[in-house]
Amino acid sequence: MLHALVSDVHANLEALDAVLADIDRRGADDIVCLGDFVGYGASPNECMATLRPRIEAAVLGNHDQAAIDPSVLGDFNPEAAAAARWTGRQLTADNAAWLAALPYSLPWHGARIVHAAPSDPEAWDYVLTLGIAVGEMRHCEEPVCFVGHSHVPVTFELDGERASYSREPLVQGRRDHRYLIVVPSVGQPRDGDPRAGYLLWDDIAWTFEHVRLAYDVEGAQARILATGLPPSLAARLRWGE
Ligand code: ZN
Repeated sequence: MLHALVSDVHANLEALDAVLADIDRRGADDIVCLGDFVGYGASPNECMATLRPRIEAAVLGNHDQAAIDPSVLGDFNPEAAAAARWTGRQLTADNAAWLAALPYSLPWHGARIVHAAPSDPEAWDYVLTLGIAVGEMRHCEEPVCFVGHSHVPVTFELDGERASYSREPLVQGRRDHRYLIVVPSVGQPRDGDPRAGYLLWDDIAWTFEHVRLAYDVEGAQARILATGLPPSLAARLRWGE
């Protein structure tokens, strides 16, 4: 089966539309979301209305949590906190309740999906280095773990005692190796590439493909500026930072 994994949508409807159109074009069998549906962007309810009917499962992200529970905002920088408060005021009661019911971590088609580091998902730790990734892979029962959170896509691989990482878009996996894959962000890339992203996992060919797509960045920026959200949240979309 061909699985599509989306993460860190961040209320960017223009990016989400581009990603879902490509997922349909590629003929993925199902879609899962690794959290951060909302936060930063200007279209929280629109993104949730678009995505909720399309996904088979989802986990909670830290920005989803912040939108529905302001008590966690102490960990947020001022722009992110302002966006979380704005998002909390916008969310429909139904969307807020739906987010509040999401789990932190889930087994999914023999893999694991989680927003942040899987060993302690509620701590919202990032998986940024090979050393951290190896520890996390050893902790995971499943041979493949998909995470989001850092918005910097990468494939970490563990072959017994040998560990490596790759930033290549297409990785041919091996079934006797372990993987921790940071899925690209749909709505706020931070790797210097402003294109929207998602991941395709072919569990027959055992390939992992980090897909990137041009989308209407100006449209997403205009919406952010029109809402009165911090202008820096619009500016960063231009540069993928
Ligand atoms: Zn995020």
